[in-house]
Amino acid sequence: MPVETVKLTGKPVVEHLRGNIKIRVEKLKENNIVPRILIIRVGNKEDDVFYERSILKNCSFLGIEGEVKELTYNVSMEELSKIIEDANDDDSIHGIMMFRPLPEHLEEKKILEKMNPKKDIDGMTPVNLGKIFEGDISGFSPCTPKAVIEMLKYYDIPLQGSNVVVAGRSLVVGKPLTMLLLKENATVTICHSKTKNMSSITSKADLVVAAIGKAKFMGQEYFSESSIIIDVGVNDDGKGKICGDVDYDNIFGKVKALTPPTGGVGTITTTILLEQAVRACEMITSDQH
Ligand code: NAP
Repeated sequence: MPVETVKLTGKPVVEHLRGNIKIRVEKLKENNIVPRILIIRVGNKEDDVFYERSILKNCSFLGIEGEVKELTYNVSMEELSKIIEDANDDDSIHGIMMFRPLPEHLEEKKILEKMNPKKDIDGMTPVNLGKIFEGDISGFSPCTPKAVIEMLKYYDIPLQGSNVVVAGRSLVVGKPLTMLLLKENATVTICHSKTKNMSSITSKADLVVAAIGKAKFMGQEYFSESSIIIDVGVNDDGKGKICGDVDYDNIFGKVKALTPPTGGVGTITTTILLEQAVRACEMITSDQH
């Protein structure tokens, strides 16, 4: 029997979040403050350039200033460290976003340790990651996990006491998301590449978040008619199209709710980054007065 599956799209979530950001940017402008971010990009990776364009477009839409520091692939540790330190000291820069992973010759951990956590709008410094694990919401979260939470809240998906499975345990998505879900009082199970019989675990959950990076890996056996699924995966389907970790075409109509392969969580990420930029600006400028 086909089920009526709700398609969880990111667009209305973005519109809702943007409304709030615009009001806050206007308020800052009344005090002659314009939020400003620095984007640091090492090299010319196509995905980075694409994301950068989207950030800049959203910046201008929201009244935020965005500046890009483009560095050659062979930039040294010293040069990159100096750029981060200068941005830390520059009062007109409120947020710093650096594309990762960095090339292998750069020690990413050491670089991130240099970044002022108050300007770390991508939530990747040890201080901000530590806060997430402490359940302290005063810091900045990595954007994708936060986008998942905003989506769940927008669609009124209950988390308190719900059984949630997070598939994937990376430091960018799975682990911080688990902490954010715990903060919402969900009961969370994490699965990873060594998990045995993952489908027997996910199919019993109320909510499954897929973040494993394997094209269309999770088929019907991973879910039930009452499953709510957030698919974070962004993969190449081998035919030049983007697909998720979930086999969308075969699952749609067999589960309760599902995000589409494009236009889902990924749509919200940039807006989360810029919401955090505005929050950084609010916090830094209130500290200065
Ligand atoms: P990652 O660092 O490669 O981590 C993948 C995780 O999935 C690992 O924990 C791995 O387990 C687990 N895994 C791999 N194969 C598995 C399997 N067969 N069964 C169960 N678990 C398995 O990837 P990531 O950076 O977290 O990204 C995950 C996906 O999300 C990717 O498709 C990525 O493109 C996408 N993504 C999307 C956004 C967005 O904004 N939409 C942002 C970031 C990432 P082990 O730890 O055991 O290796």
